Amino acid sequence: MIDFGFGVNTARAINMDTNDLDTAREIFDRLPDLQACMACGSCTATCTAGAITSFNFRKVHTLVRRGEYGEAYAEMSKCMLCGKCRLVCPRGINTRGVVLLIKKKLGDY
Ligand code: SF4
Ligand code: SF4
Repeated sequence: MIDFGFGVNTARAINMDTNDLDTAREIFDRLPDLQACMACGSCTATCTAGAITSFNFRKVHTLVRRGEYGEAYAEMSKCMLCGKCRLVCPRGINTRGVVLLIKKKLGDY
């Protein structure tokens, strides 16, 4: 077999009908400004943890929206709460507050 140096990703399906989205709704109810996120990626681009690990704040946000809490919580543990993401967010979202709330809410997953 020829090694082309890349592979095909494993198929991944997200079933929004069966995922439990109640926790995500609770998070958005507590921090309604998070709904204003336009996924620009500025938080991820400036993230301190993202510079030294694979951490991606925008990805965590997306995982929570999809109800994929286990992966979101594992990712969130890499955040060091420096607050740089909040300084650059064009929508003024309290991203540090989001981190803290997600950690608190998803601790059981
Ligand atoms: S910087 Fe703000 S608006 Fe942009 S992706 Fe991050 S949280 Fe969303
Ligand atoms: S508070 Fe967390 S998510 Fe925000 S820039 Fe710092 S390490 Fe990254």
